Amino acid sequence: MQRAKRNDRLDGFRLVAAALVVAIHTSPLTSWNENADFFLTRVLARIAVPFFLMVTGQFVASGCRKETDPRVMRYVKKAALLYGISILLYLPIGIYAGHYKNLSVTAWLRMLLFDGTFYHLWYFPACMTGILLIVLLGKLLNKRQTMAVAVILYLAGLGGDSYYGLTEMVPVLSDAYQLLFSLFSYTRNGIFMAPLFFLFGEWTAERNMDDRRVLWAGLGVSFLAMTEEAFLLRHFKLQRHDSMYLLLPVVMFFLYRLLLTGEKQSAPAAGNRRWAVSAVVLSTWVYILHPAMIVVLRGAAKVSGIGLLTENSFVHYIAVLALSVLAAWIPALFLHRSRKENKRNAAQPDDREPHDRKPDRQKPDPETTFSSGRAWLELDRSALHHNVRMLREKLPDSCRLMPAIKADAYGHGAVYVAKELQKAGVDAFCVACAKEGIRLRRQGIQGMILVLGYTHPEQFAWLEQYHLTQTVIDYAYARQLNEYGKTVHVHIGVDTGMHRIGIRSEQLEQIFAIYEMEHLAVDGLFTHLSASDTMSAEGQSYTKEQSEAFYHLISQIKAHGYPCPAVHLQASYGVLNYPELAGDYARIGIALYGVLSTKEDTCRWSGSLKPVLSFKARIATVRTLYQGESAGYGMQYTAKQDMRIATLAVGYADGLPRALSLGVGSVLIHGHRAPVIGRICMDQTIVDISGIPQVQAGEEAVLIGRCGDMEISVCDIAAQAGTIANEILSRMGSRLERVLV
Ligand SMILES: *Cc1c(COP(=O)(O)O)cnc(C)c1O
Repeated sequence: MQRAKRNDRLDGFRLVAAALVVAIHTSPLTSWNENADFFLTRVLARIAVPFFLMVTGQFVASGCRKETDPRVMRYVKKAALLYGISILLYLPIGIYAGHYKNLSVTAWLRMLLFDGTFYHLWYFPACMTGILLIVLLGKLLNKRQTMAVAVILYLAGLGGDSYYGLTEMVPVLSDAYQLLFSLFSYTRNGIFMAPLFFLFGEWTAERNMDDRRVLWAGLGVSFLAMTEEAFLLRHFKLQRHDSMYLLLPVVMFFLYRLLLTGEKQSAPAAGNRRWAVSAVVLSTWVYILHPAMIVVLRGAAKVSGIGLLTENSFVHYIAVLALSVLAAWIPALFLHRSRKENKRNAAQPDDREPHDRKPDRQKPDPETTFSSGRAWLELDRSALHHNVRMLREKLPDSCRLMPAIKADAYGHGAVYVAKELQKAGVDAFCVACAKEGIRLRRQGIQGMILVLGYTHPEQFAWLEQYHLTQTVIDYAYARQLNEYGKTVHVHIGVDTGMHRIGIRSEQLEQIFAIYEMEHLAVDGLFTHLSASDTMSAEGQSYTKEQSEAFYHLISQIKAHGYPCPAVHLQASYGVLNYPELAGDYARIGIALYGVLSTKEDTCRWSGSLKPVLSFKARIATVRTLYQGESAGYGMQYTAKQDMRIATLAVGYADGLPRALSLGVGSVLIHGHRAPVIGRICMDQTIVDISGIPQVQAGEEAVLIGRCGDMEISVCDIAAQAGTIANEILSRMGSRLERVLV
């Protein structure tokens, strides 16, 4: 049982990576052994920059395929800002060192756009170039082709880096590289290196390889091989530079997957959040500031006469690292504090109790504390990942998942589910209301969150504050949103036949008017199919009409020159019955959780979906009901003979439908069926265990899930209660504990 710790691990490793970068620039082991230093700084430490690129890639690269994904531009702006600050910071040192003397305009451009104005600053233009290149490629090519181009660029980069000695021998290649080197000093830049690792971050996160033994073995073997590669290249003097190796992506795959795959950790994440935020800022500033600290230290050693600080390479390294961390602490502390204050000053939209309100308090967070107490839900992570993989296979490459995690992820626990999905590379979610979105943001969920339903005008500020995307419910609502006066990101709901919400698909003028509204940023349009769950002739023609109306509308919008960055119409049944109607996103809800609304439908997909949730409760007490006695409210059940009964610590307030009373429903104990007797109470339920030997208080009863050879599915319960699985799941009680297994 565990909880996703992805952010904390990745953030923690940022500090390690920053320390490795400092090592590259200080060569800590030269005083001792040149080979050891080569290993540390030219082999081991070469994982640092790819790691930074992959983290960025996991959260940003996926957005590159969407025209207006705000994350991409936000990231580029941030990188530009940091680059700008760094340029200014290093200007005096660069001038003093004579770096900028007699530079031509082209030399300046080359420095600004590729090489960086100081030796470590190439990283920022590389990030910006890399992202923009992916954006460009994403417009021309599909995902696989984009990756192929990035791989080819990386291989070409190798030819100008570690393998230059080989390419140099071929005259044509040698000329080509000479031309490249007149544009930039190294191939380790935003064209040849960054794109691959950006895409690779997302790709690695989407893989489903969680066996830590395999990952460790893979890391060990690939790292040994890369070490061999590096020493061989050095031995044969083939390296022009040593940032890129053939095996580096392989090593990075295993390393990154290991960081994403958690070990058992019971510490609540709430206490770590404060640290996590500063780890990001701290590592960035260590990166930016450490060359300045090298200069400072050299100056200090000269002035003070303490030669040891610069003479012994290892002491020098430690001193630079310590000084850099101290120096970075100031901006980190400052940035972190201003963030916290923003949080404190923000309106508190949540009436839930404190754990959401103060993410950094020390008490264990009820969201993250596990004790298998009275009644609980077990969430099968591997089943969830399996369903994600299965759905991705069913959908074309261009259609991405936007899981519906409304109603607490159909009762499963939205934060757990979202964190798992984020691990699988999912970066768009939909919820029913703003509060659900806010809760996810406060627990660190990134990416797009689309609010599918109504948000009250008094709550429009939350949309902005928490970067939520709002659905346009109708035209009057669009005007209300616009009157709020600050930019709101929206998807326009289109009514093609559900007649629930949305602008009617024939109301082109209204849709154009919404595009023209000053404060609305239209990021997408969607409709909802109302009959995709039936395959009757009538249902099929209705669905056809709906989808045609929708696509006709989209083509008209495009014909008028308005962008349609994200277009979506599919939910679970659409993907099941009409996979050809893909769109840019599929808003998958129920299928993600491994079931469909009814047993028959689930059977149609059986084998391919795995139920994620099991519902269990504790047997509170076991007793005898003597002949003629009745159990429960209203004397509805009377014993015909002496019998053994058990009282379970679960009731209708936990989500067990009261309609299962009086023998309609049953639970599983020791692999046997125990019928419900009497009426289900709010918090307790009585079952007949006469036929089941040796049942004891404190044991488990299974309400949904497997027990021995028996299984009760959520669809069984739905049928008994006269409803669909969706309703049973979404009514799972909030007081149930959720446990990841
Ligand atoms: C709930 C919802 C979904 C998800 O539906 P499933 O059938 O559970 O996949 C998709 N779109 C909209 C608009 C929804 O309200």
